[in-house]
Amino acid sequence: MNASLTRRILAGIALSLSLPALPAMAQDAAAEAQPAKPARWSIAIHGGAGTMSRDAMTPEKEADYRAALDRGLAAGIAVLERGGSALDAVVAVVTTLEDDPRFNAGRGAVFTWDGTNSLDAAIMDGRTRKAGAVAGLTRTKNPVLAARAVMEKGPHVFLTGEGAEQFAREAGIEAVDPAYFYTQERWDQLQKLKGQQLTAFDVEGKFGTVGAVAVDNNGHVAAATSTGGLTGKRWGRIGDAPVIGAGTYADDRACAVSATGTGEYFIRLGVAHEICVRLRFAGESAQVAADTVMTELGEMGGDGGVIVVTPDGQAVYSFNTPGMYRGRANSEGLREVAIFREDGPGGIAPPKAAEPAAAEPAPAETKAAPKIEPVL
Ligand code: ASP
Repeated sequence: MNASLTRRILAGIALSLSLPALPAMAQDAAAEAQPAKPARWSIAIHGGAGTMSRDAMTPEKEADYRAALDRGLAAGIAVLERGGSALDAVVAVVTTLEDDPRFNAGRGAVFTWDGTNSLDAAIMDGRTRKAGAVAGLTRTKNPVLAARAVMEKGPHVFLTGEGAEQFAREAGIEAVDPAYFYTQERWDQLQKLKGQQLTAFDVEGKFGTVGAVAVDNNGHVAAATSTGGLTGKRWGRIGDAPVIGAGTYADDRACAVSATGTGEYFIRLGVAHEICVRLRFAGESAQVAADTVMTELGEMGGDGGVIVVTPDGQAVYSFNTPGMYRGRANSEGLREVAIFREDGPGGIAPPKAAEPAAAEPAPAETKAAPKIEPVL
């Protein structure tokens, strides 16, 4: 063996002996450079965003909401774990939360100014970009099922009021007596709004709409959102939840989004579609796109949040309120629920002062909705 070869062998041995000293640093750097293993399936849910503070919530109530969110999450996980579709998963989550009186959707929907409940929902399949939406339902137990029936069984995308109810019955979707939607807490919120002459945006400062976004084992995404809207809403007001592109959107080429918050701002910005477009054309990550659009919404005076899932399994939140009922899970073992901003990622700068609400003056009387006279 010549001297140079001997030197190279000795150098090699020395290097390999020194390796054990390197690994901590080297492995950390390598781990950071590696993208996290893409999840096979992934899901995110929300139960509304708003002014939730720890001080205003007892530990029992907090635990109760966390358990309720986890039940919703579990319904979606069960579908995805057995290889079911993202569409079935978001429906499983939303029907579970619609049946839960804690949330402002289905059973626990808020009251309109007239003391009725008027329910809105939408669903979208990112694989086909088919969508279905319903607004102003008064008797359908699970509005998201009516939205799905519109998407799958009819020629239209968006149905409202009595016609939507009729379509739902023909599609075999269960009806209930309107009294099913009566809950004392929501009724009291309406009385507070009327008594204190608050606007529909003020009561509790807390929303409660529900939504879910998911990607399945085949990389297809879906989104669904369901809400009772805003307490004390009038004039047939419809928010963003059932408006495709505003509160709900899904596109396999980009992401799936479900929103919650002051719906008028989400409609004006086309929030859910805008986030997907930023992913497609600007190449932004889900978090950057969601934060950018939500920041813009906040600058206009809107508040609330979004959940976003991408076909490669990322699941993110973005919200500008003190809290958002939320949760996410994936095939790699992630499973979490959260309520307050400080519970984890997703909180962005709070909104600027809202624009003066010219369209919704607080009425002086407290019993019945005022008669709106036409301006001649
Ligand atoms: N976005 C819903 C609406 O404006 C309300 C909510 O999210 O709670 O109808």
